[in-house]
Amino acid sequence: MNRTNKLLLIVFILPLFISLKCNEPKNKEITKENTSEQIEKKDSKQSKLTGLQKLIKAYPDYLEKAEDNKIYWKDGTVMNYDDGKEKTHDERLENADIEDMMKQEYVVEMNGDWKPEVNYEPGRIRYEPFFEKLYGNSQSSVTKNLTTINWFGTSVQVSTINNVDKKLAAIMDDLNKLPEKYHKYFKKTAGTFNYRKIAGTDRYSAHAYGIAIDINTEYSDYWQWDKSMKYKNRIPIEVAEVFEKHGFIWGAKWYHYDTMHFEYRPELLQ
Ligand SMILES: [Zn+2]
Repeated sequence: MNRTNKLLLIVFILPLFISLKCNEPKNKEITKENTSEQIEKKDSKQSKLTGLQKLIKAYPDYLEKAEDNKIYWKDGTVMNYDDGKEKTHDERLENADIEDMMKQEYVVEMNGDWKPEVNYEPGRIRYEPFFEKLYGNSQSSVTKNLTTINWFGTSVQVSTINNVDKKLAAIMDDLNKLPEKYHKYFKKTAGTFNYRKIAGTDRYSAHAYGIAIDINTEYSDYWQWDKSMKYKNRIPIEVAEVFEKHGFIWGAKWYHYDTMHFEYRPELLQ
C-alpha cells in the first residue's frame, strides 16, 4: 500500500467503517422493536389490561380481581376475558367474549357533526353471561331484582342491582335542572324493562336486564326504522351528558344508531 492509499484509508474508509459498526446494534434494535407483530402484541396486552381494570373499577361489589386473562367474581365464579379468536364485527356481536365487549373505546365528547364510523358501536357488543350473572338469567330472576320508579309521571321497572334505580333517580334530578327547551326529549319514556330479544336477533337486549331506558320516540331515530344507515340524531348532547355522568351509555354513539336508548354500562365510561 502506497502512502496516498494509506492516507485515503485513514481519512475516509476507516471512519466510515467505525461509524457503520457503531450503528449496527442500534439499527438492529430499532428494527426488532418495530416489527408489526411486536407492536400488535404490545397493543393487545395494553388494551387487555385496560379493559380488565375498567371492569373491576365499574363493578366493585361483584368483581374481586382480574389476572392472567381471567375475571374473578366475589362469589368464586371465574370468567375468561379473551377467547383468543379472531372475529369480524358481526361475529363479535353474535359470539362475544368480554374482550370483544371492551374493545371499542366509548367516545364521551362529540360535536354537532359527529357520526360513528362503520361498525363503531361501543357497548352494543355484550357478553351475555356477564349480564346474566349481574342482573339475572331468566325473566323471573331478573324480575326479582326490579323496583318501580316514577319517570316524570310514568311508572317504570328498573333493576336495583348496582343501584341502577338510584342512578336513574339522580339522572331525573339532573335532567330537571336542564333548561326547559330540553325537557320534551326525556319527559316521555318509551320503556325500560322488557324481557325480550333484540329485534331480528337471538340476543337479549339490555332492556331484558332492567338496565336500559328509551326516551321520547317522537324525537328519536333508530336504524331499524330506516335501514339506509344514514346516521341521524335529534337528541341534544346535553341530555346524553347527564346520563353518561351516571354511568349510562347512549345508543346515538353507535353505527347501528338507537338515539332514544340509554343503558347502564359504567365499564365503558371509566
Ligand atoms: Zn332501548
